[in-house]
Amino acid sequence: MRVRIDAELCTACELCVDTCPDIFKMGDDVAVVIQADVPVDLEDCAQEAVDSCPSEAIIIS
Ligand code: SF4
Repeated sequence: MRVRIDAELCTACELCVDTCPDIFKMGDDVAVVIQADVPVDLEDCAQEAVDSCPSEAIIIS
């Protein structure tokens, strides 16, 4: 599982950081991905962040 954030869509609500802080952190303006290659043990929380992002800005690739 790989994830990335579409900076054009992210509204910096920080929900993904709260949900999965090992994968996402806040950058200067928007959230950024810490580990694009999500370890297996973090896939559930990464998926939860994807599903709960209000802007659908987190993209699984
Ligand atoms: S949950 Fe979505 S909109 Fe909110 S900070 Fe994360 S990527 Fe951006």
